Amino acid sequence: MDKELKDIIGAVRSYMEFEKESGIEEYFFAGLTGTTKGGADASGGLDALRKEVLHCTSCDLHKTRTNVVFGSGNPNAELMFIGEAPGEAEDIQALPFVGRAGQLLTKIIEAMGMKRQDVYIANILKCRPPNNRAPLPEEILACQENVRRQAEIIKPKVICTLGKFASQTLLGSTTPISALRGKFQEYEGIKVMPTFHPAYLLRNPPDKKLVWEDMKKVKKALSE
Ligand code: URA
Repeated sequence: MDKELKDIIGAVRSYMEFEKESGIEEYFFAGLTGTTKGGADASGGLDALRKEVLHCTSCDLHKTRTNVVFGSGNPNAELMFIGEAPGEAEDIQALPFVGRAGQLLTKIIEAMGMKRQDVYIANILKCRPPNNRAPLPEEILACQENVRRQAEIIKPKVICTLGKFASQTLLGSTTPISALRGKFQEYEGIKVMPTFHPAYLLRNPPDKKLVWEDMKKVKKALSE
């Protein structure tokens, strides 16, 4: 089968799976909107930063990590997702969002008419906290410059922060995620849409509807 057709069928399947619990009433198809910015190629800058971060010992998490999970995706993406920290699967594979929450994030991205490779995905912390405990303030402090530099290099049109830790860290806020979500804010001149974390959605499927509302706003901002 033609690759483009396969991609479209895959995107529709993901969309329909996510749709079941999200009350989605509109369709987006892959390729309808741009996913890569014009301008300078960011891959060189990102590779240089990755090399630095791979040797990071700024906090104690370096003692227990299997791998640094720097981030993955399109260095010239218009849309960047930022999560909290790697879990077990991510720590082993050195890739962000590859466990169950990651599978749901992939469905959300595909339901938006994009592919995972079109966007850039990173976390606030680049190393796994033991037993997936919440990030400590000193770990966030030690690591947040890395995500700031990633955003500065990629220069996405929109950042979507996933969950309380990413949203509060990026926005320097203590407001609960339930109040932050769904409203655009700004970070270093970039539009930021805070939304719920996919791991939270696995425990609270009815709130997928709210995330879909937020993603519609992101799609609109990307098309402007
Ligand atoms: N949760 C996150 O916040 N990030 C990951 O990479 C995986 C799960």
